[in-house]
Amino acid sequence: MERVALVTGGDRGIGRAISLALAKRGYSVAINYRKNEDKAEETKKMIDEIGGRAITIKFDVSKRDEVREGVKRIMDEFGRIDVLINNAGILGKHSKFDEIDDNEWDEVLDTNLKGAFIVTQEVTKYMKNGKIVNIASIAGRNGGTVGVHYAASKAGLIGLTFALASQLAPNILVNGVAPGPVDTGLLSEEKKKELSKLTPLGRVAKPDEIAHAVIFLLENDYLNGTIIDINGGRYMH
Ligand code: NDP
Repeated sequence: MERVALVTGGDRGIGRAISLALAKRGYSVAINYRKNEDKAEETKKMIDEIGGRAITIKFDVSKRDEVREGVKRIMDEFGRIDVLINNAGILGKHSKFDEIDDNEWDEVLDTNLKGAFIVTQEVTKYMKNGKIVNIASIAGRNGGTVGVHYAASKAGLIGLTFALASQLAPNILVNGVAPGPVDTGLLSEEKKKELSKLTPLGRVAKPDEIAHAVIFLLENDYLNGTIIDINGGRYMH
């Protein structure tokens, strides 16, 4: 039976690694992107090349109408959604508390937190049984180093994960991963070097290592409301 996954921000970085990992395990993948159509097509091509099935879907996770339309298109194409990965996320432009204005706060919270709320609400209109994984961050655990808006959005996403895990059970299981720094375009090379030094493993994570944790959550039927901290030992609790 065909199983279908939607990965928000699935075109590049961690989202691409998750899209490929899902395709390798037989999922048909809806690769969501916001502006990088070329990256989304590239990811689709990579899935085509391994004999998988994928479509690209453009929507901004923070815009209700766009999400509703996008989810409808996935339903028209595949007829079902079994897995949702709320991965789309951004950093703000500033990391210093006193430099962040209201617009920047709203942009980060709207994308990282409200986006997951909107997409989850639209998808669960159709998903009757399934699994959701939210991509949070170490910043939601320890505050991180990239700004209060980002940390608040990711701590909020962890709270959303817990609340959804109790409200959507037993038919839909909701979990999350909270990565430390990962080798994608999100962080500058300078920032990655700085954060590598703060990590016991002495390096940032590879996107595939985060995708692997996501797959672990999807393959288990008793994990619900769990956040996997995957950060090379930088945050332990
Ligand atoms: P990238 O910057 O490489 O990719 C971000 C992805 O999110 C892109 O696919 C982008 O789409 C998409 N996106 C951004 N805003 C929107 C939006 N409004 N609507 C739809 N899609 C959007 O980041 P990463 O792969 O590194 O990050 C993925 C997730 O992992 C994020 O939630 C991030 O916060 C989290 N994370 C990352 C860490 C890291 O060190 N890299 C550490 C911990 C967590 P497009 O290409 O079209 O712009």
